[in-house]
Amino acid sequence: MARSRAAAVSRRTFLLGGLAVAAGASQAATVGVPWGAGDPFTLGIASGDPWPTGVVVWTRLAPEPLAGDGRGGMPSRAVPVDWQVASDANFRRVVRSGTARAVPERAHAVHIEVDGLAPGAEYFYRFRAGPYLSPAGRTRTAPSPLATPTARLAVGSCANYANGWYTAYRRLADEDPDLVLFLGDYIYEYAANPGDVRKVLGPVASTLDSYRLRYSQYKLDPDLQAAHRAAPWVVTLDDHEVQNDWAADVGEHGSGGPAFLARRAAAFEAFYEHMPLRRASVPAGPDMQLYRRLDWGRLASFHVLDTRQYRSRLTCGSPRCERVRDDPRRSITGAEQERWLLDGLASSPATWQVLAQQVIFTYLDRAAGPATDFSGGDWNAYVASRRRVIDGIVRRRVRNPVVLTGDAHQHLASDLKADFADPDSPVVGSEFVGTSITSGGDGSDHSERLSKVLPDNPHVKFQSSRRGYLRCHLDGATWRTDLCVLPYVSRPGAPVETAASFVIEDGSPGLQRA
Ligand code: FE
Ligand code: CA
Repeated sequence: MARSRAAAVSRRTFLLGGLAVAAGASQAATVGVPWGAGDPFTLGIASGDPWPTGVVVWTRLAPEPLAGDGRGGMPSRAVPVDWQVASDANFRRVVRSGTARAVPERAHAVHIEVDGLAPGAEYFYRFRAGPYLSPAGRTRTAPSPLATPTARLAVGSCANYANGWYTAYRRLADEDPDLVLFLGDYIYEYAANPGDVRKVLGPVASTLDSYRLRYSQYKLDPDLQAAHRAAPWVVTLDDHEVQNDWAADVGEHGSGGPAFLARRAAAFEAFYEHMPLRRASVPAGPDMQLYRRLDWGRLASFHVLDTRQYRSRLTCGSPRCERVRDDPRRSITGAEQERWLLDGLASSPATWQVLAQQVIFTYLDRAAGPATDFSGGDWNAYVASRRRVIDGIVRRRVRNPVVLTGDAHQHLASDLKADFADPDSPVVGSEFVGTSITSGGDGSDHSERLSKVLPDNPHVKFQSSRRGYLRCHLDGATWRTDLCVLPYVSRPGAPVETAASFVIEDGSPGLQRA
């Protein structure tokens, strides 16, 4: 690859850390600013999906992020973006650097798989385009395969911009986690509604341009940007990145066919463009490889699931749909992902087997007393799927399974039983459902409705309908989860408190109140 002398000079300046905008003026003259004007790093930066010798670093150039035409103020041609990874926050020890091409087909987003780094180490990264320098982010590689380190995780989901301020993202960033797991509903597709705490722009997101606009507005939020700068993220999606309640090739209210698949393709493209994902997750039309496994030394394996793309249709939760929910042919993962999950759970040598996924896994009867009522969209509507996963866990003696879940807009801490119908059945694992960043608004300490049904679900140990996130600390002997809550999100600046804490000891399944 030939590089012009001017570009080489400006690159060397970058490498030396001479990055003041004053130095940029002459670079702008030589390299040129191929967009109208302005800082293109309005959407922040991110890193994600770390492995022992590397991590993905991400940014997207968008000097006019709210332009609404899907281009973010960029021209319809490729633009070079320099990147650096350093072992110190001042970039005195740059260990990897290069130049990526930001192309219009990908909304001028870049995803760089930086390799050749040391395992289990902290790094800093930043970008430059023309004379503009991005903020710096902190990231981390996964530990080496044989290491048994400790890990501090933060787990978030469901960040409806319209419902409140992203204080939970800010508090999560302040925790200084090693890794953030994001379990879906990063955006919501809806148009603005009366009574929204914050107004979203544009129509219901359904086309590539409108999804790009939605991500752009969300990513302008400084609290969200801080959460990405703090740590690498491992993301999956749920329904609202595409459309409420979609399932495989069927949209909301059963709308299907080519129109829905075109929408899914646009949604996946925009999701990929705005997330720090590896090349393996580049969408191919309406298909995207999102389920994947990440290892954190011998401490934890993260089995990241996709319970939307391959699932059987939704059904209803009332007794009249019981036969559908119990149909053994139904699956929430699809057969291939299920096999991949069970094989991975059995073969991983890690202490903690983490299912990072979207919707409630545990048995949850939502009707008080002898009547029953289940969700038609979570694992309670795919009973045979849950049966096969739990049987696989029991039969293959899977070590310490912990399910981490989004979607429900409430905290739940629950044990998983070999057979939920049998009160004497042993506990085989646990699930933490991690409320929402904002979705549902301020909330309350307990859901009136759910507290009434806790006697119907004795394996559920805690419930809260406040906003917040999960903080998990793991070592080789103990898993601890703090269920973090904020008293309000309808105005900025809420403090964070711990509503409850639970520990799990290696080799003895079940939650203990800490
Ligand atoms: Fe949600
Ligand atoms: Ca009941």
